Amino acid sequence: MFCKYCGKQVQDGSTFCPHCGKSFQEKVEYSAPPQQRYSRYEPDPRDAPSGGFAVLGFFFPLIGLILYLVWKDELPQRAHSCGKGALVGVVVYVVVWILAMIAMCGIVNAAMSLPVVAAA
Ligand SMILES: [Zn+2]
Repeated sequence: MFCKYCGKQVQDGSTFCPHCGKSFQEKVEYSAPPQQRYSRYEPDPRDAPSGGFAVLGFFFPLIGLILYLVWKDELPQRAHSCGKGALVGVVVYVVVWILAMIAMCGIVNAAMSLPVVAAA
């Protein structure tokens, strides 16, 4: 095999280059110290995506938003369920509201264009 640093031929299976002195196992030597493996983020056992809170957020977007803000640091997954439910709820309300306005305009226009029979 050849050294990837200086390109000179070295013995197969060598762990370092005798020509330039570079190690072929740098990644193994510089891996994370053992104590860092145990400082991993431990999720809260109460934290889980919740369909119930998503439904709550859907029907009461303001409550969903408040719960999202309260839980977003402590229980991020549950907070996400609330926030998502609230977001979907708000979108549905806006769409229903727009459709209602369009329907209202249509009814008003239809009523205005009717021939005025009753006035006569
Ligand atoms: Zn070398």
